[in-house]
Amino acid sequence: MLIYYDSRCAEYATLGHPEAPFRAAATADVLRHQEPGWQWERPVAASREEIVRVHTAHHWDRLATPRDFDADTPYIEGIRDHAARAAGGALAVARQALAGVRAFSLMRPPGHHACADEAMGFCYLNSVALAAFEARALGAERVAVFDFDAHHGNGTQDILAHKPGLCYGSVHQYPCYPGTGGTSFDNIVNAHIPPEGARDEHMMALGKVWRQLLAFQPSLILVSAGFDAYRDDPLTEMSLEENDFHTLGCWLRECGLPVGAILEGGYSRDLPELVLAFLRGWEGAPAPRL
Ligand SMILES: [Zn+2]
Repeated sequence: MLIYYDSRCAEYATLGHPEAPFRAAATADVLRHQEPGWQWERPVAASREEIVRVHTAHHWDRLATPRDFDADTPYIEGIRDHAARAAGGALAVARQALAGVRAFSLMRPPGHHACADEAMGFCYLNSVALAAFEARALGAERVAVFDFDAHHGNGTQDILAHKPGLCYGSVHQYPCYPGTGGTSFDNIVNAHIPPEGARDEHMMALGKVWRQLLAFQPSLILVSAGFDAYRDDPLTEMSLEENDFHTLGCWLRECGLPVGAILEGGYSRDLPELVLAFLRGWEGAPAPRL
């Protein structure tokens, strides 16, 4: 397993905000301690040229304008550089996956709510969409994005909808922020789970969407790995357990296709263990606490 990480991604914060530095820093500590054999690399920040493949030039400039984006998404000094480094982690993951290397980007901020011209929902640049476009530019014929974050990736959907060679599948709490993802269309597959929905129904919905993405016969799968569908997450009302994230990791391994994954949400103090379980499943290792 190759982990993309830059400790600078844990060096900015807004007081009281759930998208906090511990998410990356504590997870890095746990992974290093529990899996000392895994490789680590610092990603190169995505360039303006790479970013304007997906985002508008206006958005690139806006990210350096010191004015909050919305109530959840503050302007933070240097946020454009932080977001460009997180996007760089996703680009690196896509390149490594196409070269047959399992890679995970452990970076913040997350990205799947960011639209072409808008930062929102803790997200500034849509890292997974940038990675999907990078993979297409590198010759991947069909790229699927699997999003198991508890929230619908409205930004990823907006950017990928109706684009040839790309498809997007999400399972999310509904109704919930951001309120999108109620229907499927064209190359977009959405399944939703009501608040307090049953764990087995959630896993069945994830399995169904996963199989729909496999039926697209992707040459690469990119995973928006959000861990806020966990039963103790403070932002959602969902019911997945640690072992369910291990199961999701197992699916990545079992599909036999190139797969890369990046961190999206996940706000519980147990996030490090959830990421570890997911990555161990992907590696073919037993769940930490089975
Ligand atoms: Zn989320």
